[in-house]
Amino acid sequence: MTDQEIVEFYKLSCTDVLTKKSDETCRSHYGDRVWIRGLIEFSNHCVCDCAYCGIRKSNRSVKRYRLTEDDIIRTVRDGQEVGIRTFVLQSGEDAFFSIKRLCRIVERVKNILNDNDALTLSCGKFSRNDYRELKKAGADRYLMRFETSDKNLYSSMKNGEPLSERLAALSDLKDLGYETGSGFLVGLPGETDEIRINNALLCKKLGLDMVGIGPFIPHPETPLKNAPQESIEWTFRAIALVRLLLPKANIPATTAAGSLDPQGREKALAAGANVLMPNLTPVEHKKDYLLYPGKICLEESGLDCLGCLSLRVKQAGKRIDMGTGHALSFNNIARENA
Ligand code: SAH
Repeated sequence: MTDQEIVEFYKLSCTDVLTKKSDETCRSHYGDRVWIRGLIEFSNHCVCDCAYCGIRKSNRSVKRYRLTEDDIIRTVRDGQEVGIRTFVLQSGEDAFFSIKRLCRIVERVKNILNDNDALTLSCGKFSRNDYRELKKAGADRYLMRFETSDKNLYSSMKNGEPLSERLAALSDLKDLGYETGSGFLVGLPGETDEIRINNALLCKKLGLDMVGIGPFIPHPETPLKNAPQESIEWTFRAIALVRLLLPKANIPATTAAGSLDPQGREKALAAGANVLMPNLTPVEHKKDYLLYPGKICLEESGLDCLGCLSLRVKQAGKRIDMGTGHALSFNNIARENA
């Protein structure tokens, strides 16, 4: 099917028909495998004031924390002990973690990983030069959602910041040879189905290797506290559409989906997602990385999370694979040097 035909199919199909097709597409490339990434939320300090986000700068009720470098290493080791081989280091945009410091952390983490294991960063927007340094230090992958493809909606959510800056950063990451991930929120106030379709088409245009898609969940300490909660079905439909447009991408069943619907991650896996990200953040800090209310697994350790996830994966008729799990779309060549 051409992109246009896929979009037509999306528009005309009920969710069951749509997700049956996207599930088939996912299985034809990834079989029943679900990759596991250990997520470490290492700082909730943030200079940004995104209207949707619970850890935005203006939210004074957040208890701010930073993991020390040793804490981060210890957390990675804990993950390794239960067999996890790829890790995602995520944070707010926190100037304390300068590029120099982040490079040192990347080097230390990569030092204790096996040669084929992958390290992903998700720390927001930096200059091309900074991304180059982080890559040199050993970072393999980078995640940064564009949140919405609609310019006006993006700027209104991000304090006037133009969408073009984030898109330029994503193209820098791709040029530098990162396995590149982005994605979007589903159900932001003012979002139309046309915007949702454009979100998916933008993922295709960017040639993403990883696409994170989750429902927007209004947080009581943000300007969007009174926004309506959109149905999670739109999230499953968006996952399905992206899977059809980007058959070889890695797509996580997000924690936000699992937080809004107890079966959310299973349903996402059945709609074409093939990645799960157990939260390895030390339990004492988990509750402080509250991007949205109702976040699940706040009391569980990473090990507990993994046990629970394997059951969920089974229910979805899939199985956990601890492999590095590069996206099949990923071609390891830095365009910058090509
Ligand atoms: N500072 C990094 C990491 C952001 S947190 C960056 O800018 O990329 C990761 C993701 O959480 C965000 O990209 C956003 O899509 C999601 N998120 C934030 N607030 C949310 C909310 N209220 N509901 C659901 N997801 C949210």
